Amino acid sequence: MKVLFIEDDAIETMKLQRTVAKFQIKYEITEAKNGEEALDYLRSDAKLPDIILLDLNMPKMNGIEFLRILKADEVLKFLPTIILTTSENRADLLECYKIGIAGYVIKPLKYEDYEEKLRKVFQYWEVVELVKA
Ligand SMILES: [Mg+2]
Repeated sequence: MKVLFIEDDAIETMKLQRTVAKFQIKYEITEAKNGEEALDYLRSDAKLPDIILLDLNMPKMNGIEFLRILKADEVLKFLPTIILTTSENRADLLECYKIGIAGYVIKPLKYEDYEEKLRKVFQYWEVVELVKA
């Protein structure tokens, strides 16, 4: 499974990579630091990811702005996008579901809980049928 991870915080990116490396199945993680970088990647010749993990608070183009552009694109709109954030803001949650997300995951503070949640997310997407572009 190929995953595009969009996150501005380098520590968070390291944390995700470290966690995913522990999983039994090997995942290919591509990193982007903000929405702009992610769109550049998605519009390049690179093979499209199976899923997107998206942070909300980022400089240049935040998660919601990115999501709007993604969902307005005739090809990219089929990419399941899961929000991975510390924001418990209900307005963000509502707005994301309105635009179109495949899930909204709040990052727990405790590392063990984070690992457990991530494991469940990845296991779920392993069994889900995807629209291959
Ligand atoms: Mg952030």
